[in-house]
Amino acid sequence: MSRSRRRTELLPIPSRGWQEAAACRGEDLALFFGPEDESWPQREMRERRAKQVCAGCPVRTTCLDDAVSRPEKYGTWGGLNEVERTSERRRRLRRANAA
Ligand code: SF4
Repeated sequence: MSRSRRRTELLPIPSRGWQEAAACRGEDLALFFGPEDESWPQREMRERRAKQVCAGCPVRTTCLDDAVSRPEKYGTWGGLNEVERTSERRRRLRRANAA
């Protein structure tokens, strides 16, 4: 089963007000959620394009905070992919524990 299909099965997601202003509204979901059998070069190209959309998004910080605050395993959210969000979660946890 592809990640896109898994994500689709979770839809509809609860509406969040900030999503009304999201730059990805109307974009192809496949840009943000690639298939499991995607090659690394394909993934890099797709994620680069998704991150370009995120870079111009007025709700990027809110989106990233939201995605990091829950166990969102798939896709590009707030300009970060899955691996980058895991690192961001750890970074935030370390910072919170140090405070
Ligand atoms: S930051 Fe990216 S994924 Fe999040 S709402 Fe904006 S465009 Fe969509």
